[in-house]
Amino acid sequence: MSKPLFDCQYKSALAGETPSAVRIYGRNGGYAGPGNGTDELWVRGLTMPGSGTMSWVFSTVHLGKEGVTVIDPGWPDRTDLDGSTFAPLDEFLRSRGRTIKDVTTVIATHAHPDHIGAAGPLAEHTGARLIIGAEEMKCIDIARGHEDPANSSGKFAVEPGGVGAPQGLLEPMLEEVRHVRDRWYLPRNTPDILIEHGETLVDMGLPEDFPLEAVLTPGHTDGHLSFVDRTQQILIAADLIMPIIFPGIGLSIGMLGGNPLSQYLESLEAIAEFDDYLVIPGHGYCFTDLATRRHETANHVLQRAREVRDILMEEPELSIWEIASRITWSLGWEGMQQSRMLVSGLRQVIMYREMIDRGEMDRWERVFGQNR
Ligand SMILES: [Zn+2]
Repeated sequence: MSKPLFDCQYKSALAGETPSAVRIYGRNGGYAGPGNGTDELWVRGLTMPGSGTMSWVFSTVHLGKEGVTVIDPGWPDRTDLDGSTFAPLDEFLRSRGRTIKDVTTVIATHAHPDHIGAAGPLAEHTGARLIIGAEEMKCIDIARGHEDPANSSGKFAVEPGGVGAPQGLLEPMLEEVRHVRDRWYLPRNTPDILIEHGETLVDMGLPEDFPLEAVLTPGHTDGHLSFVDRTQQILIAADLIMPIIFPGIGLSIGMLGGNPLSQYLESLEAIAEFDDYLVIPGHGYCFTDLATRRHETANHVLQRAREVRDILMEEPELSIWEIASRITWSLGWEGMQQSRMLVSGLRQVIMYREMIDRGEMDRWERVFGQNR
């Protein structure tokens, strides 16, 4: 298990209650200013529609000398995108000697409503610059240009014929997914900066007191970004890795063509260089001991991969539908067939089969296997 950094956040997480804001101090004396005009870093829990750990999302707020930066400003009130949505942020900022008008930069880690939803409106409301990952912006553009919101996913498209679904079983679920995905949460404004892997906010001309670096960590979405402060050893991981729950994989609104499962495992391997960092996830609680959580998370993925591999070893010709019917699902296969999770579940099976066909299992067992 990952080690909680703050008792109060941990207790809230176990109780499923939105935690109150906590102040983060860097490992090397960063963000230690005494308030009112100096440098501070905060993590705020923002309530969102959902249950348990998924009933709030963490937003990171930097109070800099030259302005305020907000990363993932949360899931907005769709009916009131100007007023009440930002009142709690304003109230928080006022408690630290600032106001919402001091927000100069808004960053979204990825295009899900709980992360990007309030980003566009907050930038519009305050005149702040909006920063989105260049890769995630490609996903947004693909999604916007695609006529079928249930299936903008190329070779991972879930089609009744392609997956071998019995007549009439998959169509209603595809219809439900279409209905749910109207993408109201995407920003209407054009981002001011599209940031790429390895670029820092300072490279983008932003003040030097918040030297975050973008780290491309695809898997959850194809363009998912994490951010690190290498000097202060802080990793803002969003939905890349979380305590308590494991993130969904392949949940891009538009897909760039890579296999999200392989990319996810690559991301979990790549962030090993941050194993000693303090981690701010998208949901749950801030934690340390990233190495343990990376291995737990990778093995959660590998466990299903092993299951699919064993099924395919016995019967290589099975359809995606037949493979899915033999896998262990937390809802059970009967439950899956009644749920719109069926679509993403079948998509995952396509991804697992492709990853196994490419012969990647040995490599991932070597990197993450239990007896390392
Ligand atoms: Zn997400």
